[in-house]
Amino acid sequence: VIGPAPAGDDGPSKVDAALRPKFLREVVGQRKVAERLEIAVAASKKLKEPLGHIIFDGPPGLGKTTFATVLPNELGTSIQLTSGPALSKPADMLPFLTNLEEGSILFIDEIHRMPRVVEEFIYPAMEDFRIDIVLGEGMSARTISMQLKRFTLIGATTRSGMLSGPMRDRFKMHEHLEFYSVEELATIVRINAAKLNTPITDGAAHELARRSRGTPRVANARLHWARNYSAALHDGAITEAVAHAALDKAEVDADGLDKNDRRYLETLIDVFGGGPTGVEALAATMNLAADTLSDEIEPYLLREQYIVRSPRGRVVTPRAFAVLGRQSPPKPRP
Ligand code: ADP
Repeated sequence: VIGPAPAGDDGPSKVDAALRPKFLREVVGQRKVAERLEIAVAASKKLKEPLGHIIFDGPPGLGKTTFATVLPNELGTSIQLTSGPALSKPADMLPFLTNLEEGSILFIDEIHRMPRVVEEFIYPAMEDFRIDIVLGEGMSARTISMQLKRFTLIGATTRSGMLSGPMRDRFKMHEHLEFYSVEELATIVRINAAKLNTPITDGAAHELARRSRGTPRVANARLHWARNYSAALHDGAITEAVAHAALDKAEVDADGLDKNDRRYLETLIDVFGGGPTGVEALAATMNLAADTLSDEIEPYLLREQYIVRSPRGRVVTPRAFAVLGRQSPPKPRP
């Protein structure tokens, strides 16, 4: 059973869905996570018990949904997909909970954005596979308890810090996904180019991978663009020269930073004197949502040390000046 698509699903995510691995062995990288999941799957099959609830956290596009969607294939069960923002009240959970099959999976993307009332409503479902439904109002209200099929809840979040303690404690496995190496991304690019029937050289796959912000979803998007670029202007194959030209045309710089990354660094330097500054002020100046900055832009800039986080806010590093081709200001004398 495939439930409603997560909110905001559009073109690129269709590409993602088509390229998504079907089984754990097809998942590239994240070896430790994959190995632990293999053990959990094997145990679940042997013991004939549903998989324990799992939470995946990490920046967008690193494979949280991918891991969640390979698990039902491994277990031979079904999955329903929904997302935190789509669940505004407990009743929104009912169609999913009543559609459960024994051992099936319920995936909630952006689970940190689920309202507290819904969170509390699913605690008994997670613990005892039971929900309490209140019928009527006021004096005549009564609660009935409904038994559910035993199931596995898989949550994905870009903000594990925003999960409440009780919610976090109800997950048996907590898996954190990390950015990918260039080699891992190059492997993903080659596999996906083959799926798209697009010839690609190893040098081109490496070039696309190197300029993909450590993120498989970005690598897929860069591949898709390079494929279109070649189909329109060349013979359809992606050579290193085509990859270079395509990425330059997309304004992805030699280090893989895109327009928003550079705008972020430029704003921090030009408007805020390099920081420290708070994310809200930066977001307002850039005319973007603060969540977009902290969930999508900053994790990669932090990991590559273009910025650092201090108690008083974000600060640029000399690396940021270098990547923008600027001279860093002399260090102030103590
Ligand atoms: P998230 O849920 O963390 O935002 P997704 O699971 O949707 O990220 O990943 C985006 C796309 O990147 C997937 O559709 C898939 O094509 C690709 N992808 C992600 N992780 C991997 C991986 N480990 N191996 C191969 N492809 C991956």
